[in-house]
Amino acid sequence: MKIGLEVHVALTTETKLFCGCPNKVVKEPNTETCEYCIGLPGSKPQLNAKAVECGIKIGLALNCKFPPEMFFSRKSYFYPDMGKNFQITQYEIPIASGGVMHVNKKPIRITRINLEEDPARIVHVGTITKAEYVLLDYNRSGVPLCEIVTAPDFAGTKEVRNFLQELSSILEYLGVYDPNIEGSMRIDANISVAETRVEVKNISGFRDVEKALSYEIVRQQNMVRLGEQIVRETRGWDAVSGVTRSLRAKEGEEDYGYIFESDLPRIVLEKGKIGHIRKQLPELAAQKIRRYQRMGIAEELAVAITTEPSLADMFERVSREVDTQLAARWFAGEIKKTLNYSNLRMKETGMKPEYLVKLLKFIETGKLTERTAEIMLREIVKRPEDPEAILKGKDIVRIVDETALMEMIKAVLNENAQAIIDYKSGKKEAFNFLVGQVMKKSQGRGDPETIRKLLRSKL
Ligand SMILES: [Zn+2]
Repeated sequence: MKIGLEVHVALTTETKLFCGCPNKVVKEPNTETCEYCIGLPGSKPQLNAKAVECGIKIGLALNCKFPPEMFFSRKSYFYPDMGKNFQITQYEIPIASGGVMHVNKKPIRITRINLEEDPARIVHVGTITKAEYVLLDYNRSGVPLCEIVTAPDFAGTKEVRNFLQELSSILEYLGVYDPNIEGSMRIDANISVAETRVEVKNISGFRDVEKALSYEIVRQQNMVRLGEQIVRETRGWDAVSGVTRSLRAKEGEEDYGYIFESDLPRIVLEKGKIGHIRKQLPELAAQKIRRYQRMGIAEELAVAITTEPSLADMFERVSREVDTQLAARWFAGEIKKTLNYSNLRMKETGMKPEYLVKLLKFIETGKLTERTAEIMLREIVKRPEDPEAILKGKDIVRIVDETALMEMIKAVLNENAQAIIDYKSGKKEAFNFLVGQVMKKSQGRGDPETIRKLLRSKL
């Protein structure tokens, strides 16, 4: 089995690819448009230099080669999502080509990287098969897309998922892509179980990729088993029904009648400029993980911290001030968990590094137990505030006072006669159960070490 991908990534430039309209997601349809991006006759494109820079960054990160110069072409087709009946894209000379990306040590060849404009968004009123009419939103028309084309190097859906996760991380670290924008990564896949290649278009999101590919693989395998002929065609992924449907017999690239886009100049890609961009490339997740490991951080913690650039960035600022291991454990564990639970990324919280420094220092110095620190963390992720101020208004400081803890232990032992019997008959877990009960009674504030010590003496 062979799978190849075409990944379309919406670049996060300020403006669109060929006009000055803002490149942002707005609810109100058809408000961020101009003569060019709705395709009025006579309007001319102007190339966004920042988008070219993004393309170069991606090419560099994926170990590609660059042509000395490039140009754009018109891909002609008639469809309402492109008012001028052609899309400006790259065909003859892509911005970058011949790259490679390693996923779990397996090389995946990057055939080419193109820049192109996104068409308008088509909204089917009702379901895609039953809609009586469609609506068009030209806000998306002209958004810069980077198309990343791989060789058919994937042997299964798991490899595809790992590749997309890694690619998404690289693009986010490069600062050219935002995975939180809906539909910012759309995938077409070529799948051949036997000889014939079938293209599945318009898959968005990682989870859908696995579903769409699995469906298509099983469909083709069944046809082979029944001795049926697989047709070379383009199929669409219907995410609602979870099936692929035939869209059209596969057209060849030549059917699009590519012609040179004469309204745009040829673009020279100077070696010096590419070298300059290379020097400014940020550290990517894979490099960060290696550096963290050199700092003595376990690989699985390093991987967890680097899944999101703003989390890694915050970790680096905080870990300078507190114990590195404690910070690593908390960032990979409790902090990440709390963010995930609130469906937030670190950069969206408005968190200040000094707040997390203070919180971790409370644990380091024993002012808070890890349990109460977790509770405080949840508060400051929701509403960033100085942990010291929160501490003043609350009774959450760690309890080490032995008299107070002993009172709680006595109460717990009174309530749990069976656990004492179990403990005395040699059941170790009964002891941990009793410690847990005392912790609960202290509302998470009791110092676990002192509780263990006192409980042992009491038993
Ligand atoms: Zn425009």
